Amino acid sequence: MKKIYLAGLLCLALFMTMVRPVGAASGTDHSSVRKTVEKKSRKDFIVAIDAGHQRKGNHKQEPLGPGSARKKARVSDGTQGVSTGLAEYKLNLAVAKRLKKQLLQKGFQVYMVRETHNVNIANSKRVKKAVKAKADILIHIHANGSARRSDHGAFTICQTKKNPWQKQYKKSRALAKYVLNAYCRAISIKKRPVSERDDLTGINYSPIPTVFIEMGYMSNPSEDRKMAQKANQTKMAKGIADGVEKYYKACVRKR
Ligand SMILES: [Zn+2]
Repeated sequence: MKKIYLAGLLCLALFMTMVRPVGAASGTDHSSVRKTVEKKSRKDFIVAIDAGHQRKGNHKQEPLGPGSARKKARVSDGTQGVSTGLAEYKLNLAVAKRLKKQLLQKGFQVYMVRETHNVNIANSKRVKKAVKAKADILIHIHANGSARRSDHGAFTICQTKKNPWQKQYKKSRALAKYVLNAYCRAISIKKRPVSERDDLTGINYSPIPTVFIEMGYMSNPSEDRKMAQKANQTKMAKGIADGVEKYYKACVRKR
């Protein structure tokens, strides 16, 4: 056991000498491995934000996860406000842009998967773009729709423990919890339980901690009107950013 443990440590040390951390300035490598790995500074911590959907859905199919026989639309149409008529892709980007601002103010780096509506980016590609940008975490911004108008509240989604592709259960679950708690507090919305699912392309392709936030039900008239207000969108973004900061403090800075 001990031998294996030591070999593991040696491999890790070797690996760390080969791979430079993102954003590390040259000449600062004298710090210990512990410092670079376990105490990533805010300015080196990259949050990828994916504003769900786009102006026009793309109904061509793609595998649900790498190599999966099950397939799903590359980008579904999303929902729309039952009362305001606001399209989900517009709400998602409005909050995503505010979230970017909030996170930058907190000193984090941000990568936006999309910043306009007129794009055509498959859900698997959205994850790949975030990974290519060397993001540390990925947040998919969405709002919900239901046939029952009374359904309301927010929740977050992460992988299950048994996801065959994504192996970031603990961190994803923690991120889901922190984001949901802070979000619901910020906007005073009903908190539904964190949902664990393995049927979302936006999770299954991702090697980094990843969550979806379903910010509320656009099929619920009062929640729809609430989310459509710009002042509330700023509060919603602030809530998500606070949740990211809590996650960073709990799972990145001190580990
Ligand atoms: Zn959606």
